[in-house]
Amino acid sequence: MKDFNEQIKTLKDMIEESHTIAFFTGAGISTLSGIPDFRSKNGLYSNRYHGKKPEKILHIKYFNKHPEEFYAFYREKLLIDNIDPNVIHLFISELQQLGKEVTVVTQNIDGLHEKAGSLKIHNLHGTIHRNYCVDCKKEYDIDYIKQTDGIPYCKECGGIIRPAITFYGEFLDKETFKQARLDTKNADLLIVLGTSLVVYPASEIVSHFRGKHLVIINKKRTKFNHQANLVIQEDFARVFNALLKEL
Ligand SMILES: [Zn+2]
Repeated sequence: MKDFNEQIKTLKDMIEESHTIAFFTGAGISTLSGIPDFRSKNGLYSNRYHGKKPEKILHIKYFNKHPEEFYAFYREKLLIDNIDPNVIHLFISELQQLGKEVTVVTQNIDGLHEKAGSLKIHNLHGTIHRNYCVDCKKEYDIDYIKQTDGIPYCKECGGIIRPAITFYGEFLDKETFKQARLDTKNADLLIVLGTSLVVYPASEIVSHFRGKHLVIINKKRTKFNHQANLVIQEDFARVFNALLKEL
């Protein structure tokens, strides 16, 4: 196995020779910004909320039946927008300035890639920044959700407003998924960050990759490690601070 400096050098060379670069990012990259991971030991899913599992509260059936309880949880745990992008988000957006064609596919709903300035983003699980009325589909921004208490209602028709995130029990947005798969499939370089690649659609997207270099940066092993051209099992801050110096 290569030592850390060699790994960084290899990754830097791959980035240099690649014109189209796709990133697939998961919850692990937002923890650096202070957003709790979902599945780690202290993550969102490890703790019950008033006796209920978060997976249950984030199910579409629960939302339809108990929107008030859903919103209490949502406001406390997910509606977090006073956080800044970190070195990873900034590095990714910086590559655009260098003339690379960059696509970001993310499982995160926090909007930090947008905040960092990335232009082409496929939010597989939606985003907390978009909300809409379930009846008339009128759109509302995050401030409207923050300024209201309890269940937010539509100003036009009185319908319940929901966040444009994918609940358990719902399908991913077809068009978003299709575009995400297209844009990653033939990228010269695909870099997977902060996801264990266990759950659909991460596994699906990575298994269809036909480009030149597959790179996985994750502290834990992933099931695609044997297919990757480069695997870096290191702390993100260390990896990206080293990379930024090389740019
Ligand atoms: Zn409405």
